[in-house]
Amino acid sequence: MNDTRPLVEIDMVNKYFGTHHVLKDITTTVAEGEVVVVIGPSGSGKSTLCRAINRLETIDSGTITIDGQQLPEEGAQLAKLRSDVGMVFQSFNLFAHKTVLDNVTLAPIKVRRMKKADAEKRAMELLTRVGVEDHAHKMPAQLSGGQQQRVAIARSLAMDPKLILLDEPTSALDPEMINEVLDVMVELARAGMTMIVVTHEMGFARKAADRVIFMSDGAVVEEAEPDQFFTNPTSERAKDFLSKIL
Ligand code: ADP
Ligand code: MG
Repeated sequence: MNDTRPLVEIDMVNKYFGTHHVLKDITTTVAEGEVVVVIGPSGSGKSTLCRAINRLETIDSGTITIDGQQLPEEGAQLAKLRSDVGMVFQSFNLFAHKTVLDNVTLAPIKVRRMKKADAEKRAMELLTRVGVEDHAHKMPAQLSGGQQQRVAIARSLAMDPKLILLDEPTSALDPEMINEVLDVMVELARAGMTMIVVTHEMGFARKAADRVIFMSDGAVVEEAEPDQFFTNPTSERAKDFLSKIL
C-alpha cells in the first residue's frame, strides 16, 4: 500500500471533437478524500473531462488512472472501474419508470449481485442519509427536483464508489432547492468522500473544497485553494470569469 498515491491521476489528456480541441494537456491529480471543484465558462470542457474520467467519452491521448489502474477502453474491467466512480448529472437521470427505492437498488443487485433484502436495507440507509426516506416507494416524477437529485446522489453511493463526480448538480434546480442538495454534498465531503464537483456555487467551494480548478477553452488555467482563487485569482481569464459570476 502506498498512502501517497493519488486516487485519480490525469496526465496530459487531450480530446478532440472533430477538429475542435476540447481538452488540452489536462494534467492533475486528486488525492483520496480530496474535494475538487471545477469551475469555468460554458464550453470550457468541464463536462467532457468528467465524462472522460468515467470513460463515457474516449480520449485521444494521455492517461487517466483511478486507484492505480489505467482506464481500459472497454470490457468487463471497464465496467468494474466505472462502478468505482459514481456520477451525478445536472438532469438527475433517474429511471422514470422505477420507484425511488428500485433506482437505488438496481445496480447493487444487477452489477454487485447483492441480495434484494440487503440492497434494500442499504438503500434505505442511504435515502435516510440524504433525507428522502419517506419517498422510497414513490416514482421519481412525484418528487421535487431537489429530492430527485438527492436520490441520484444516494443511488451513486449505493455502489460504494471510490470517487463521485458531480456535474453541475444544482444548476437545473429551482433556487429554493439548491441548498438541500448542497447540504448533502457538504456532508459527503466532510465524511471523507473523494469528490470532483463541477459547480459555480461558491458557497459550496468555500465550505467544502480543498482545491479549485479553473478551466477555460479546454485547458486548466489555474489551480488554487478556494479562498485564494476567489479573492486573489492570478490569471486574467479567471478574473474576467469571476467578475461575471460574482
Ligand atoms: P462545459 O461542460 O465546460 O460547458 P463541455 O465539456 O460540455 O463544456 O464542452 C466542451 C466543448 O466541446 C464545447 O465547445 C462543446 O460544444 C463541445 N462538445 C461537447 N460535447 C460534444 C459532442 N458530443 N460533440 C461535439 N462537440 C461537443
Ligand atoms: Mg457542462
